[in-house]
Amino acid sequence: MARKIGLFVLAVTMIGALCGAALAGDTLADVKKKGVLVAGVKDSLPPFGSVDPQTKDFVGYDIDFVKYIAKKLGVKVEYKPVTSANRMPMLMESRVDLLAATMTKNPERAKQIDFSYTYFLTGQKFLTKKGTVKSLKDLEGKKIGTAKGSTSEQNVKKSVPSTTVLSFDDYPQGVLAVQQGKVIAVTTDESILAGQLGKLEKNPATKGQYEIPDITISAEPYGLGMRKGDTNFVKFVNDTLLEMEKNGEAKKIFERWFGPNTDSPINRGKFKITADRMGLE
Ligand code: GLU
Repeated sequence: MARKIGLFVLAVTMIGALCGAALAGDTLADVKKKGVLVAGVKDSLPPFGSVDPQTKDFVGYDIDFVKYIAKKLGVKVEYKPVTSANRMPMLMESRVDLLAATMTKNPERAKQIDFSYTYFLTGQKFLTKKGTVKSLKDLEGKKIGTAKGSTSEQNVKKSVPSTTVLSFDDYPQGVLAVQQGKVIAVTTDESILAGQLGKLEKNPATKGQYEIPDITISAEPYGLGMRKGDTNFVKFVNDTLLEMEKNGEAKKIFERWFGPNTDSPINRGKFKITADRMGLE
């Protein structure tokens, strides 16, 4: 009897596993078949994902990882802009195959989607008008901007509960709100804020007026997002990241967007950067 029950349990488990695999689909096979990898990326967050004003091409750190993965698959890439709030639904509804969108991997999100190995690490900070914020105390009771659906939104509510958080579709709108005095700060990953500060620094009208104070409230490891249980694709992407780490491509991409020859404010020595290319784990 016990043996029969054991067999029954085994059969049910196997059927369950097969159904799970069927539900998740096989993106690796699908992408090869259709000849295109549809990637959900940010379109206004240099140096991760933005549109080159001259060429109109998507460019950035996230984009370069997508390009390498597509090349290895032997397929073309189609980029679809995503926001922090809509990226998980876009993936789960199969409107994109992969997310490469400044996305922090955490246990809560990992209940709904799968993540690759970490391919970037940063931490959450604030961008403010110069001299207005020295510590978290200066933010108490104030309005702060961030993006809807981000970890930044959750973290700031925990770190400074007395603030009013204004959540925008994306961070450039938060930066505008700082410029207009509607919020005291915009908060998100330092690596993103550095890109926004870079834009302000390039503009003679705003140059020298903004800063990222040395206040970090979280660690944000980025992972590429894939559908839950899409095992073949997750393995392929992780193997590709390992290959990129070994053959120096990951380092090259890091240097291209954050290295000493870039104009990233990270390298101007004006503030300490916590962002770094991570060993894969
Ligand atoms: N990395 C954080 C997150 O995944 C903030 C950046 C973003 O909103 O994409 O939520």
